Amino acid sequence: MIALRESLISTAQALSSAGLNTGTAGNLSVRAGAGFLITPSGMPAAAMKPSDLVWLGFDGSIQGQREPSSEWRLHQDILRGRPEVNAVIHSHAMFATTLACLRLEVPAFHYLIAVTGASRIRCAPYTLFGTQAFSDTAVQALADSKACLLANHGMVVLGADLNDALRLTIEVETLCERYWRARQLGDPAVLSEAEMAAVFERFKTYGQWAGAPD
Ligand code: 13P
Ligand code: ZN
Repeated sequence: MIALRESLISTAQALSSAGLNTGTAGNLSVRAGAGFLITPSGMPAAAMKPSDLVWLGFDGSIQGQREPSSEWRLHQDILRGRPEVNAVIHSHAMFATTLACLRLEVPAFHYLIAVTGASRIRCAPYTLFGTQAFSDTAVQALADSKACLLANHGMVVLGADLNDALRLTIEVETLCERYWRARQLGDPAVLSEAEMAAVFERFKTYGQWAGAPD
């Protein structure tokens, strides 16, 4: 499990170097056996060593020398409830958090909203960090999506693996910045459900999909 521990730390450090998390803000997890590895609470990514990570079992068992992230319930509930998800990133990235402070959802103002798997990025209502209510409202706002904002707090993103979750975090933050910029000039036009359905259809064969000719 050492390689997985190192990947979790390098992803945490990548979030910091990309400016998506500062100080001890944010936390991340990756599925590992019958549980998951999670970052320790209140430690900056630059200081984290593999032995600082905590393993939590879905049966309530715990292995590690550190206090796990205060958001362990959020990570556990997502990983337990969604078998297709193997990595969870919670961040306080600037533009996502700015919109979350206005309690705005991000509508389909740009076709790439589809990368989240849904046609909007919802904003979960405000709840105290580290509580079961925080996890419950986030899980509800995620619904069929791989991303949501968290009112007056930040965002959470899900991935098939750590790289996938990191890519999506960057994508969501970019979308939030574009939405913020567009709203400086006016009221962005929103794509219809039919237009978004066509984007989802087009994405099935976009890029290096399995059916592409050699
Ligand atoms: P932890 O340091 O406990 O992971 O908390 C940071 C955070 O972002 C709380 O929401
Ligand atoms: Zn947070």
